[in-house]
Amino acid sequence: MIIAVTCLIAIAVIAFILTVRPKDLPAPEPVSPFAHLDERKAAIYENLRDLQFEYRVGKLSDADYQMTKQDLQKELAAVMAEVDKLRGTLGVEAAVKPQAAAPAKKRAGFTCPSCNASFNTDLKFCGECGKPMKVAQ
Ligand SMILES: [Zn+2]
Repeated sequence: MIIAVTCLIAIAVIAFILTVRPKDLPAPEPVSPFAHLDERKAAIYENLRDLQFEYRVGKLSDADYQMTKQDLQKELAAVMAEVDKLRGTLGVEAAVKPQAAAPAKKRAGFTCPSCNASFNTDLKFCGECGKPMKVAQ
């Protein structure tokens, strides 16, 4: 009888441990949007390196190499564009902090010299096209 009870308790404890374990780890939140993009960029660079290596070793044909390389470069360009766009967004946050460089006399707004989009805040980078904004005067 005592053995049976001990066994039951042991089983109960094991069952408890097994049911608790799967849910003890919360999903990790992304650190920052930049970290995610940096990771992608690093992955693309690594792929490019691997590709170059395989091409040099003779595993890839010329056409395959060129095609894959172009794909990777396109992907890289897309990531870079996203980084630039993100920087533009973060530029908004930076501009909100008091920089005291030049007090904005006019509240009219700031216009992008590249695409003519206008913003209420003094952005470092245009939120539309991502190009650097100079304070138009
Ligand atoms: Zn613009």
